[in-house]
Amino acid sequence: MRPGNLLLNWAAPFSNDLSSHCTMPQEAMKAPVVVLGAGLAAVSFASELRQAGYQGPLTVVGDEAEPPYDRPPLSKDFMGHGDAEKIRLDCKRAPEVEWLLGVAAQSFDPQAHTVTLSDGRTLPYGTLVLATGATPRTLPALQSAPMPVHTLRTLEDARRIQVGLRPQARLLIVGGGVIGLELAATARAAGVHVTLVETQPRLMGRAASSTLSDFVARYHAAQGVDLRFGRSVTGFTEGTVLLDDGARIAADMVVVGIGVVTNDALARAARLACDDGIFVDAFGRTTCPDVYAIGDVTRQRNPLSGRFERIETWSNAQNQGIAVARHLVDPAAPGYAELPWYWSDQGALRIQVAGLASGDEEIVRGEFSIESPKFTLIELQKGCIVGATCVNNARDFAPLRRLLAAGAQPDRAALANPATDLRKLAAAVGT
Ligand code: FAD
Ligand code: NDP
Repeated sequence: MRPGNLLLNWAAPFSNDLSSHCTMPQEAMKAPVVVLGAGLAAVSFASELRQAGYQGPLTVVGDEAEPPYDRPPLSKDFMGHGDAEKIRLDCKRAPEVEWLLGVAAQSFDPQAHTVTLSDGRTLPYGTLVLATGATPRTLPALQSAPMPVHTLRTLEDARRIQVGLRPQARLLIVGGGVIGLELAATARAAGVHVTLVETQPRLMGRAASSTLSDFVARYHAAQGVDLRFGRSVTGFTEGTVLLDDGARIAADMVVVGIGVVTNDALARAARLACDDGIFVDAFGRTTCPDVYAIGDVTRQRNPLSGRFERIETWSNAQNQGIAVARHLVDPAAPGYAELPWYWSDQGALRIQVAGLASGDEEIVRGEFSIESPKFTLIELQKGCIVGATCVNNARDFAPLRRLLAAGAQPDRAALANPATDLRKLAAAVGT
């Protein structure tokens, strides 16, 4: 699709008679509703708003020219099939939306209730929803490096990286988080030589227990990934990247996956409370009247840690968007209270993590081998379940999320025994 300003109402063919969805009178909502950002959070919000009965004007402004798409496949299957149509987000549940794609919001004025766009237009709003997501951090040390250096966030990024994933090509990945590891597995499957540099002494440090980190490191090493821990990139020469221990890594392409910063600049300029992320409550309310925020751009209270955190996961973007839409249509609707969870597919590993990455005690269930991994880690804090990790063990995941939500204190021996059916255990504690 060509870049630039596109005014698309491409969901129009799917539009239904709105009255069939409607349960609320239009006056209940401060119209018009304008959403900034057209990613998962925005699409989930817009869909739920329509499904919950809002019939008024609804505009979604997205700076990417692409119709909305799902990001998780970008580091996984998409690298194989390269078909953007397979990863489109379903917008059929959001009929009668004006999609302004390829246009950026440049500012908004909370007093005048207007948004200024990059094409010079001004949009009035009654309710404004910020769903602007996040942008990858970059690595200054590789600015002007001779080889291609990419980050991975957008479809365009994925297309550029895909071109470089040729058998025998040499890929350097900087960052041992979820992006780096998913891409490492995808690249190894394509016959690419992979070196991965991580500043910390372990992988997935932000979102995994040290047991999982160690296991994941053993898995990737067994797949042939050259892991360099405790190292950072300092510069480059022709065809090589230099590390702080003096090592030179030959690389045809570099992908940097060292975390993200939120796209909260518009909110900061409008003086909303932000700290690399817009502070919101359980209803998505910011510190500015009539302005809400959802998805990766938010900083919200994690019900488990009690702290305001960024929860950068697919499920959060979807379900926070849904909860905020329901609340806008029905102020009596409950606030968003889902406990954080995510998944990560890394080659033969399907990793699912819920709650806190670690507690004061860890229980291991199942087969902890590299050849046929299938295990569950359960994190306890003072005997209560506060976190769970399943590796190729999806059957345990749903009951553990229920036990976690209930703050259950099941018998340790029962938890550790792989023969225990956790669904029965969850039912027994009434979850
Ligand atoms: P985004 O998806 O970032 O959407 C925000 C949109 O707003 C973007 O299109 C952005 O360009 C646009 N925008 C920004 N500023 C403006 C502006 N001023 N005007 C207009 N538009 C603007 N999570 C999981 O749980 N499991 C996974 O396996 C997983 N895999 C992932 C793989 C990859 C490669 C990536 C990048 C992420 C993955 N995630 C995964 C995370 C998940 O995809 C994100 O949490 C989710 O996409 C966040 O959605 P969002 O709508 O909040 O933000
Ligand atoms: P992460 O924050 O998960 O991981 C980045 C890693 O890189 C951290 O371990 C970080 O260490 C390390 N790092 C930071 N700076 C450097 C450096 N200069 N050199 C080497 N290593 C460094 O971010 P990702 O980039 O992996 O993911 C980005 C976004 O995509 C996140 O929002 C993530 O949630 C999302 N995503 C989610 C997926 C999932 O849930 N399956 C899959 C893919 C992406 P330190 O902690 O010390 O900074």
